[in-house]
Amino acid sequence: MAYAIVGQPAEGSLSGFAAALRLALERHGFEPALPEEAALVLNIVDRGRPRPFRRRSRGTFVAALHALEESPPDPLREGYPVLVRALANVSLAYVPGTGVWFTTLERGSYLVPCDDGLHTLARRVVDRLEPLARSRLVIDNEFRPDLEPELWGGDAITESIADAGRRLDTLGLLPAPFPVEDLVDANDLRHIKRLYGIGGLSYGNLSARKDETRFWMSASGVDKAKLEIPGRDILLVSGYDAEAARIVLSVPPGIEPRRVSVDAIEHWRIYREHPDVGAILHVHAWLEGVPATEVNYPCGTEELAANVAELLAAEPDPGHAVIGLRNHGITATGATLEEILDRVAPRLLAQVPMS
Ligand SMILES: [Zn+2]
Repeated sequence: MAYAIVGQPAEGSLSGFAAALRLALERHGFEPALPEEAALVLNIVDRGRPRPFRRRSRGTFVAALHALEESPPDPLREGYPVLVRALANVSLAYVPGTGVWFTTLERGSYLVPCDDGLHTLARRVVDRLEPLARSRLVIDNEFRPDLEPELWGGDAITESIADAGRRLDTLGLLPAPFPVEDLVDANDLRHIKRLYGIGGLSYGNLSARKDETRFWMSASGVDKAKLEIPGRDILLVSGYDAEAARIVLSVPPGIEPRRVSVDAIEHWRIYREHPDVGAILHVHAWLEGVPATEVNYPCGTEELAANVAELLAAEPDPGHAVIGLRNHGITATGATLEEILDRVAPRLLAQVPMS
């Protein structure tokens, strides 16, 4: 895998760490390349005015690297704006003597500690970064205006999804979308939407099975408490074009559909592999004692979908299970969304543990 280090010249302690990272990357098999040819780009930024690296292809994974004098009281609040403004996939804040704080798009915020020298730290950072950088996003949509007319206005299932969205709001399980538009201009916002397929960075999603092969799912970047218009806010996923890595959606004619939630690939896999799963809920909250993924792959990647599907298949009852997504949240299956919420909501913890 080719990598490049771009951006501001690293100064002070950051220059030593950048050099250690370069060494660790090359020991790991990464090869130096021109930025436009690199699959992993480390963009060294000034956190006050992070200059974005504009990737030519979505397959390029960008880490915004910057330095802090000490660990911030709220690392997420510190890292998230840098991540968004630098148009990066992850923010890495190097704190000399302490370690590196990772901040992910899923609001993950965790420290890779420095307790054994700079080179060990650099190696650990590369170990945590590599699987994320190698993962593959499946977030393209293909809209086909072939939805049968009797579903143009939705059905009892879309109503159950809208109800569950309102219930999540009442339960306080819908964190406010991050105010991305306050951090970046319109141009960069378009770049972000193209890049991650998300409009407004909202969190969580809901879906319910329609029939053997299809399911309804909430759209991306929409307030889950206001899933009002079927075909726009709730979409019928009718297939997956693996070759083009595109989610296929059946929509009514004459409506401007939103994009489906970036996790559609994960739900698609679960419905296909487990005929007894009737509904799936994903929230950024936690449940004690559930099996969880070890790598915090980004939302919307094949790797996250495969990892969750694998853990689910190992459950005694995959049709009524809860899987943890490390540093991220949970994915729960059930007969209906109502049944999932009845079973899971009373035990949900608002705070996702970070490690
Ligand atoms: Zn999520």
